[in-house]
Amino acid sequence: MLSSHVSRGSAHRWAPLLSALARRSLSSSLASPAVAEQPAPRPWVYDMTKSELIARMQEFDLEPYRARQLWSWIYQQGVVDPYKMTTFSLPLRERLAREIFQFGLPSVVDPLRSDDDTRKWLLRLDGSLVMPESIGPDRPCVHAPFDPERGIGLRPDLQDEGPGMWKSLASAAKKPGVIETVFIPRGSTGTACLSSQVGCSLQCSFCRTGAMSKAALRNLSSGEIVAQFLSQRLALGDFPSSRPERIVSNIVMMGMGEPLLNYRNLTRAVEVLSSEDGLALSRRRIIVSTSGIVPLIERMGHDLGVELAVSLHAVNDRLRDELVPINKQYPIEMLLDACRKYPTNKPAKKVTFEYVMLKGVNDSVEEARQLARLLRPIPSLVNLIPFNPWEGSPYGTSTVEAIEAFTAALHDESSRHRGQIIHVTVRWPRGRDIMAACGQLANKGVAQASRASALVDSLPAAGESPPVGESGAAAQA
Ligand code: SF4
Repeated sequence: MLSSHVSRGSAHRWAPLLSALARRSLSSSLASPAVAEQPAPRPWVYDMTKSELIARMQEFDLEPYRARQLWSWIYQQGVVDPYKMTTFSLPLRERLAREIFQFGLPSVVDPLRSDDDTRKWLLRLDGSLVMPESIGPDRPCVHAPFDPERGIGLRPDLQDEGPGMWKSLASAAKKPGVIETVFIPRGSTGTACLSSQVGCSLQCSFCRTGAMSKAALRNLSSGEIVAQFLSQRLALGDFPSSRPERIVSNIVMMGMGEPLLNYRNLTRAVEVLSSEDGLALSRRRIIVSTSGIVPLIERMGHDLGVELAVSLHAVNDRLRDELVPINKQYPIEMLLDACRKYPTNKPAKKVTFEYVMLKGVNDSVEEARQLARLLRPIPSLVNLIPFNPWEGSPYGTSTVEAIEAFTAALHDESSRHRGQIIHVTVRWPRGRDIMAACGQLANKGVAQASRASALVDSLPAAGESPPVGESGAAAQA
């Protein structure tokens, strides 16, 4: 319409204005109000390393000391809700919560407690975050009311599915993004067994996690790894970190997934977990268990300085190809060579080898002797793990007699060679009652969870130094 009032001679002078108006009109008609008002995505605070947290707050003109205060609140005090961070003014708390970060932890589907006090939580990773300060020892998880502005609480679309939805662990377990995290007590302290992936791509034949649908498979973010540890400490009343005795004193990366296939986020998580002015967990108290991603083993030792555990389970490639298929890519010789070179593998340090005892498959006395010979150059702790069968698994559990004979043969063979350092532990799995529920309902490999409880006894208790100075052959069943 405007152009009809313009003379032909002056049209060229109006052309840029007309063009700009037309573009503006077109773009405003295309943009929906909802999209235009969409707030910029905010990072989840637990997904950030400390330097990233500082940088993020500087983007909002906040001094680094503010980031250090926030770091202390979330990791030393265990405070999840920014509105409870009382060293910040109310306007700053508002900015933190509404402009700068997302806060809150994944909600717990159902806490389980074993007869022997082993605890297990299924965490739902669907974007719903909760403020769990109300959770204390033995108190049930209570979902916070949904706050749409802060994105906190149980999402209404899930609430609409009815209160019965999460009563069934089975239905929850089928949904992508449900992981488990386990606390294994020892005396007044204990170990957190953390997951690194939803599902696992490696398909070890004795492990039910590997049988999960590929559609559900994904890496956990570093925040999702750290959040498991925080959730455990909050549930157990293990904050603030200045308490003289930690309840959750160690970590084993031995839950769902292969940690070295999520190396970047594992690295970031270890950085957060071991941050001196945060959770301050010694890296010597973190064990990473791998099924044998050889190229990353030595690198992990250099990068992270954590302890190494290896799922071995067989003494020859033919059988290990079947039990742990990644062996076809990285056979036993390559794997043990990487273990020999592992940087913390000094005379006083041991690599842990997990060996699931499968009836009539890998539990003969001759295999025990071969195992001792294979491990001769490596100071080792061998964890023998009686298999805990799950429905449909093709394996059975070795008899007590077979396990005892295997242990004796390992001990005998290693004692023939002066200087061989090999310790043997056999641990019937703890938390078997809830692990069984886990194996059936969350697609979790029971045997794999048992590995963690078997390993717990090799870890230093709170207040103890990591084991040092052991020498000579020793065995204990
Ligand atoms: S044992 Fe570990 S690596 Fe193997 S399928 Fe299970 S979770 Fe994956």
